[in-house]
Amino acid sequence: MNAIHLKKGFSIRIAGAPERHLHRLNTPDHVGMVPEQIPFVKPRLLVEEGDSVSIGTPLFEDKRNTRIRFLSPGGGRVKRIVFGPRRIIRQIVIALDKDEPCEAFDVPTVEQLDAIPRQALVDTLLAGGMWPFFKTLPFMDLADPDTVPPSIIVRLGNDEPFGPDPVVYLKEQEDRFGLGMDLLNKLCDRVVVNLTGDESIGSALPDQAVIQRYTGCYPAGNPSVQLYRIRTGSEQNRAWFIDGQDVILMGDFLRTGRYPVQRIMTVGGSLAPTAEHVSTRAGVPLRLMCNGGLAGEPAARTIVGGVFTGFAGSPDGFMGFYQNALNLLDDGDREEPFGFIRPGANKPSYSTAFLSAFRRKPFPMDCGQHGEVRACVNCGTCARICPVDILPQFTMKCLVADEVEEALAHGLLDCAECGLCTYACPSKIQLREVFQAAKAQYYKEIS
Ligand code: SF4
Ligand code: SF4
Repeated sequence: MNAIHLKKGFSIRIAGAPERHLHRLNTPDHVGMVPEQIPFVKPRLLVEEGDSVSIGTPLFEDKRNTRIRFLSPGGGRVKRIVFGPRRIIRQIVIALDKDEPCEAFDVPTVEQLDAIPRQALVDTLLAGGMWPFFKTLPFMDLADPDTVPPSIIVRLGNDEPFGPDPVVYLKEQEDRFGLGMDLLNKLCDRVVVNLTGDESIGSALPDQAVIQRYTGCYPAGNPSVQLYRIRTGSEQNRAWFIDGQDVILMGDFLRTGRYPVQRIMTVGGSLAPTAEHVSTRAGVPLRLMCNGGLAGEPAARTIVGGVFTGFAGSPDGFMGFYQNALNLLDDGDREEPFGFIRPGANKPSYSTAFLSAFRRKPFPMDCGQHGEVRACVNCGTCARICPVDILPQFTMKCLVADEVEEALAHGLLDCAECGLCTYACPSKIQLREVFQAAKAQYYKEIS
């Protein structure tokens, strides 16, 4: 298998990588959904506080397409629904029963899968709450059930440092993964497994799988970056992608006819009590994930998802629908006396101006900005690091000047939202956030 090497990017040496061993978490007494963290979805509640629900009962639907529904990750009673400003739905909390009831869905057998029409399969996935696992590039919105994509990319490897390792979640799940791949092949003629990381995983995949291996620094595992490197026509920009672990869930759903709630997640970062993989369930409380460490560690910032792309969690929060990693990092929100003359031996940075450039060992990364925001100094760092060559400084200036067409011409839509430019910018400009917001705004205007 020939690998495509992605030359641009940057590997950050941060401490707290999760070990590969799998720790089984205690069963939570409640689970939750966090609708506000699902991009673009306009949720309409289908339950009220006090309602009884089963695993697989619809909790909310997307107002833009009411066939797309998000199902309950637990069976019991709706304990609490937390609203934010303008009635945005922050959390739906389910208190679990001891014997959780579970919805049964009508699914085709393995033998029927060959003969079932594509539309019937789409309807089955919509009814079973599996559809939201498909996302569309370049905006990362949910896939449109009424379209056929040019290709489906299966992401097998880490998109971010410290995400679940396929070696761990594929172990003894090869059959379910194969069944999930059969399902994907019914939805689209071209399904490609984009593999990063451990090459040995390839041997665990079904024989018929089309595998493309990628090597390189972060974000070599990002489907947008991978597509940017191999695409031969603009029609390929609308590819769908799905995470490897979610393909296993597809297989599980087909095999059991039940909404699957088991997940392999990671706890990482330099303040994690134990950096490891954990076997748990969807919507698990953050407090359980880090073993109560949130309360005892006031300086810890809890990041649900990747260190560059996740969202800040609170002690009463839950893992998100798409997030399978929890990172605990030092908040870093403190003054650094005479920071400008310190040699920075312990400071992870893209810049080679610090002594840390000579250190090969991982660093305890923190969330501090280490300086004030200032104007762009045209250093070109962001252009050197950006894996999709969009010249971030010029694209950002176009957006600031409201020249959206110009920003699009620079390749705004190719931005993989990886966050490297924000990390590396010496002027502390939040480039990723600017591009993410601009892409979302443009998408809303053309939708
Ligand atoms: S512009 Fe920034 S966030 Fe976007 S792909 Fe390039 S480095 Fe990543
Ligand atoms: S890294 Fe920051 S300061 Fe340097 S060119 Fe890019 S935006 Fe400007």
